Amino acid sequence: MRESTPLLHNANKIWGRTGAERTWLGSLGASSLVFLAPVGTIVVYIVLTFFEGSLSSFASSVAEEGLDAILVKYTPRPTFEAAFAIAAWVGFQAILFRFLPGKIGNGQYTPAGHLLSYRLNGLSAWIVTHAVWGALCWFGLFDPAFIARNWGGLVATTNLVGVLVAGLAFAKAYIHPTHPHDRKFSGSSVYDYYMGIELNPRLGRDFDLKLFTNSHLGMMIWTLVDFSNMAYQYQTLGHVTPSIVLLSALQTLYVLDFFVNESWYLGTIDIAHDHYGFYLAWGCICFLPSIYTIQAQYLGLHPTTPPNVYLAVVFAFGIAGYVMFRSVNDQRHQARLLGHQCRIWGKPAEFITASYATTDGRQRESLLLCSGWWGWSRHANYVGDIVFSFCSCALVGSSHPIVWTYAAWMAMLLAHRCIRDEKRLEVKYGDAWVEYCERVPWRFLPGVW
Ligand code: NDP
Repeated sequence: MRESTPLLHNANKIWGRTGAERTWLGSLGASSLVFLAPVGTIVVYIVLTFFEGSLSSFASSVAEEGLDAILVKYTPRPTFEAAFAIAAWVGFQAILFRFLPGKIGNGQYTPAGHLLSYRLNGLSAWIVTHAVWGALCWFGLFDPAFIARNWGGLVATTNLVGVLVAGLAFAKAYIHPTHPHDRKFSGSSVYDYYMGIELNPRLGRDFDLKLFTNSHLGMMIWTLVDFSNMAYQYQTLGHVTPSIVLLSALQTLYVLDFFVNESWYLGTIDIAHDHYGFYLAWGCICFLPSIYTIQAQYLGLHPTTPPNVYLAVVFAFGIAGYVMFRSVNDQRHQARLLGHQCRIWGKPAEFITASYATTDGRQRESLLLCSGWWGWSRHANYVGDIVFSFCSCALVGSSHPIVWTYAAWMAMLLAHRCIRDEKRLEVKYGDAWVEYCERVPWRFLPGVW
């Protein structure tokens, strides 16, 4: 049954994706992305593998031969090895997710008033996964460069798997929804396929598809792709370069941080507001492994040797970006846990009390933090993340624009996310949000934006 009461309609505006009614333009945009985004991952693979990372060489060949001819010539096909590896990977991760012990954490209240609990075993799953991978490689049972060597087949196959999983999520939302009143329909099937219908779809009571896909498939594979490219560089070059070592160190720190702080992730937009559709399912199964790791892929194929001083400075800035990102997120996490008992930078934290209604008709309360980083700008965590991502691209030391894709993507993603989140928060908290914006007028950088 579709939600239609005034209460549900009102609550629909304060959570999840925008717009109860999509225009034809919105549907066209969503359908273009469903087609163009997978093509984008294929083009990135082709440029890195066959054009030495040069977009201009790729563009010249396209101008000469035509895009269709280039795509036909170089597009990777799904392979048996890739399909088998992905099936084994998903199966192994599902077992770890289901059976490894972990602390229980709570998400945020959903619009229908559910407070879902999650078993947080991401860190132990990361350790087990990498230990098993290390042991298999050590005893010669698995090629550490397998991912890099089979990258074309893996990109093609993860594209198909991501599209398929999004399709199954779409069907499940109609046939067997986990929380029927937490679904959101836009009136456009294409848009619903793209953005998702169910907020927190589960298999059974506990197997949360969104947490599994985002964290145990997407984030988990990131470090393995980096390590595999490092191994490939070693096998082809005879040694590993400082740039790939520092890049992998920086990204491992980010991934490990994610798993160490998994309970914090439950309060982020991904889990609390984004629905489970193509955007998240395909995004975490295919886009994240393909695009976030471009730097390591580039260095695996085309090693660079920037000066050590340059690498040291960029690495230090990367660490600074990470420290900022972590400290901002920690402050909000502590504020949510401790409320008025929380102290920030040695002083009692200051808050604006904001209220909102869930669809069960209950009035609930949030505290908007106005101290520390959250008094400096409204999204200082995004600033730290953007600095970090630019540094991880700069570590490659190449002038090819393609190695900057991750940083450009993060800047766009987070700027867009900030705008859409703030629109939602204005509706959700009303005057309290306006008061917060007056008190903290800057979104990212004071004096800039
Ligand atoms: P935030 O963690 O900043 O969460 C935003 C939410 O926080 C808002 O929706 C609101 O939620 C609440 N909020 C906003 N202002 C305040 C305040 N002053 N006090 C208390 N609560 C407030 O955003 P994200 O979930 O987007 O990002 C989390 C982290 O993940 C960020 O550091 C980001 O950089 C990173 N990230 C990384 C990505 C990647 O691909 N590597 C992708 C996306 C994010 P509510 O409605 O519950 O009040």
